[in-house]
Amino acid sequence: MLLSQYTISNPTDSQCDMTEPFSHLVQPSDLTRDAERNRLLAEMAEQSTDMISRHTPEDWRFIYASPAVTHLLGYEVDEIIGLSAYELYHPDDVEDFKRRSPTVSYERGLYTHTYRFRRKDGQYTWLESTSRSIRDQDTGELKEILVVSRDASHRIETEQANQRLARVLERTSDLVTFITPDLKVSHLNEAAQNTLLLHQIKNDQLNLANLLTKESFDVLSEQGLPAVKEGKPWCAELNMQGGRQEAIPVLLELLAHYSFHGQLEYFSLVARDLSETKQVQAELKRYQDEINHASRLVAVGELASGLAHELNQPLTAIVNYVSGIQRRFGNQDQIAWSELAFPLKKVSDTAMRAGSLIHRIMNFTRKQEPHRELIRLSDVVPDLIEFCAAKAEKHQVRVVNRVKDTSLCVYADRIQLEQILLNLMINGIEASGTISESDNKDAVWPEVEVSACLDNEGQVQISVSDEGEGIAEDVQDRLFEQFFTTKPKGLGMGLAISHSLVESHGGQLWAENRLTGGACFSFTLKHVREDRDR
Ligand code: ADP
Repeated sequence: MLLSQYTISNPTDSQCDMTEPFSHLVQPSDLTRDAERNRLLAEMAEQSTDMISRHTPEDWRFIYASPAVTHLLGYEVDEIIGLSAYELYHPDDVEDFKRRSPTVSYERGLYTHTYRFRRKDGQYTWLESTSRSIRDQDTGELKEILVVSRDASHRIETEQANQRLARVLERTSDLVTFITPDLKVSHLNEAAQNTLLLHQIKNDQLNLANLLTKESFDVLSEQGLPAVKEGKPWCAELNMQGGRQEAIPVLLELLAHYSFHGQLEYFSLVARDLSETKQVQAELKRYQDEINHASRLVAVGELASGLAHELNQPLTAIVNYVSGIQRRFGNQDQIAWSELAFPLKKVSDTAMRAGSLIHRIMNFTRKQEPHRELIRLSDVVPDLIEFCAAKAEKHQVRVVNRVKDTSLCVYADRIQLEQILLNLMINGIEASGTISESDNKDAVWPEVEVSACLDNEGQVQISVSDEGEGIAEDVQDRLFEQFFTTKPKGLGMGLAISHSLVESHGGQLWAENRLTGGACFSFTLKHVREDRDR
């Protein structure tokens, strides 16, 4: 029923008539027929949770308000009668309303708007009101305004929250895409359009396959979509492409969204551009490789005088063998092979030994990409002991190989493994030894032991223990810090590098003091059986 079809009787007479608020809207002649209808209307108004109010057209004073006013605005009905709605509008809304209400409400007769209204306690609440102008049927004169208002706070808060979310989605630097269940692109945010160079193309011409590289699309279709359809979260590092030449590495999170009735509505894809992170990681790795390489050069530099001595020995031996041959056979016209065979083999073996030492130094100092392979520990340790033999002798330390189990194999980069072991062995030698000019053959030299075993978790544990003074208490927490050293000419890089190399192999490096004195540095690496695939 349209209330406006009723004639207005006398609004001012019914200002406080709360029992029959709508009786003025009907002709006196209709009263009998409409008495019941008026009663029902009045009852509906009284019962409604929406607030029904009548206002004077000039200044919107309340002529009538239904009891819902108490719940909505905190006023008793009597209190609000006579107040002008303009007094209660939020200052930011009143001007707008004043500007718009004459054109909308008075000309078209029906006007819905949402605004903030002051409650009795001074707080503002959002109301949504539909206002209708009531006119004299004969003269067309505006008599009063009838308004139905309801609480719109919840709707406005939800709308504002949605708008905030939408703004965040649009402005975030993450690439946000919505995909329909048949994998068509329904929305790309600004970042996605710009990064994937898709601003010229309409969304409805795109599907998911256009956004990713072929390999990444396959991964997403084969793993991501089935997972999210089962309600599991799915996240992966993939490559997006769009209209670009070069793919962009992204961390992509995929979600499936369902309707209230459990129907798949759309997928959302939120991708974080990893280009910069990847670049920084690559630079860090390059930098780390440089440091590792420099540290190997330093280690070889430290061993240089010893290595020169090591090389000098076979070279001298070769010279001696050749001089012997010259002395013995120099004046003979004919030489029997059986006589030459032995000294020549000696020359060749000794030259090979010198050659292999040079080869090892070259390998150790060469700059190369890490390459992991199966390594038998019992092969590596003797070579390293030989490598630092001269230094050990200079410090009057015996380096002992206790790795007897030839089945102990690890999967590692050979050079890096040697670098870790060599750092620990050099530290052990320096910690245990004393440099003395006197060559006391009877003195018992301290030992640096290299050992290896399987630990309780089935990992290979390699230890280098020494008979030095052990690790001082104030040094323990800082051992693995870069540039931490207690040695006058130390660099403080050896343990820091060893620590990061062990971790990059998935192992751990730690130090402890031995009960019998001295320190023991141990690290773990994954055990690999020689006959097994890794
Ligand atoms: P550097 O040898 O150049 O000092 P490292 O990183 O190898 O650098 O060692 C850092 C510090 O750790 C050493 O200066 C020393 O104080 C301590 N340290 C290392 N190995 C041992 C050890 N076997 N016994 C006692 N202290 C040690």
